[in-house]
Amino acid sequence: MTSQNTVIPTAGFTYSPDSGLAIEARNVNKIYDAGGRAHHALKSIDVEVPIGCIFGLLGPNGAGKSTFINIMAGTVVKTSGSISIWETDIDANPRQSRANIGIVPQELNIDAFFTPRETLDMMAGLFGVPKAERHTDEILEMVGLTEQADFYSRRLSGGMRRRLLVGKAMVHRPPILVLDEPTAGVDVALRQRLWDSIKSLNQAGVTVVLTTHYLEEAEALCDRIAIINKGEIIAAKTKADLLASAGQKTLHLSLKTAPPLPLPDSLGTLGAQWRDGRLSISFDPATSNAVDILHKVRLAGFEVSDISTAEPDLEDVFLSLTK
Ligand code: ADP
Ligand code: MG
Repeated sequence: MTSQNTVIPTAGFTYSPDSGLAIEARNVNKIYDAGGRAHHALKSIDVEVPIGCIFGLLGPNGAGKSTFINIMAGTVVKTSGSISIWETDIDANPRQSRANIGIVPQELNIDAFFTPRETLDMMAGLFGVPKAERHTDEILEMVGLTEQADFYSRRLSGGMRRRLLVGKAMVHRPPILVLDEPTAGVDVALRQRLWDSIKSLNQAGVTVVLTTHYLEEAEALCDRIAIINKGEIIAAKTKADLLASAGQKTLHLSLKTAPPLPLPDSLGTLGAQWRDGRLSISFDPATSNAVDILHKVRLAGFEVSDISTAEPDLEDVFLSLTK
């Protein structure tokens, strides 16, 4: 175990918490004073981020995601509860806990008159990383800014700026990277590029926490997801368990000839619905299966010309939890 009093640039990589958790938040509350009115932005939330995962904190705007991230960053003070980051309590040891994490804030604040190389160097200086231990070129390469290393940052596109901020968050080589809405306002092509950078950092051993209000982003990237709504964590599971908890699968059938409407009882009892020129039948895979349902549709006198099944997606889960 490293000393809790000195900031060691690579602290996170020299030991692993025994708990197996990169971040552990217990019973965290945040009450903002909004012009004399109390606003309860985080309501007794518990968050556990296992080492090595890509963890998504998913929720609509105003849910409390940035509040949680900013508490970890030390820019917002929580009202109660405790958070430890790589086994370091943020209250007992704020300096070390901040050294254990790299945070990419939601706003794209960039030093326009410095180059990416200078920006990374200054940041390393702020974290007390000695010159000989800096990895500026490696970081530039990692975030795909080698060619732009000596351009003024004001010449960088939005996606490049975001990647520079990722680089900035990684100069002290923390074991945890936190990104607050990494692709908000980023176009589709760049979004893919950012997703790739996040995945490769994770493959290199970095635990990643990201917030997003895009369901597809959480679905594409995260292996664990916590859903936050109005300051409360309403689900926290692996992505697979979360999707499985939605239970239902859906069978879509195209028919040779359209059925009469309303649907005859023989189809109605299967829970069938006529939507977009197809018969859609939702079923619980634990108690039924597509072959069985297909058989019943044929027995009811309908000829099927095409079949597809749809797994529940995060949107189904999200809607069923927040409705
Ligand atoms: P998210 O990042 O999920 O969109 P935020 O954490 O930014 O949500 O905000 C959560 C809630 O707290 C919102 O209702 C927001 O208006 C409120 N809030 C955020 N910052 C402050 C503040 N400094 N003072 C008062 N209320 C705030
Ligand atoms: Mg936010």
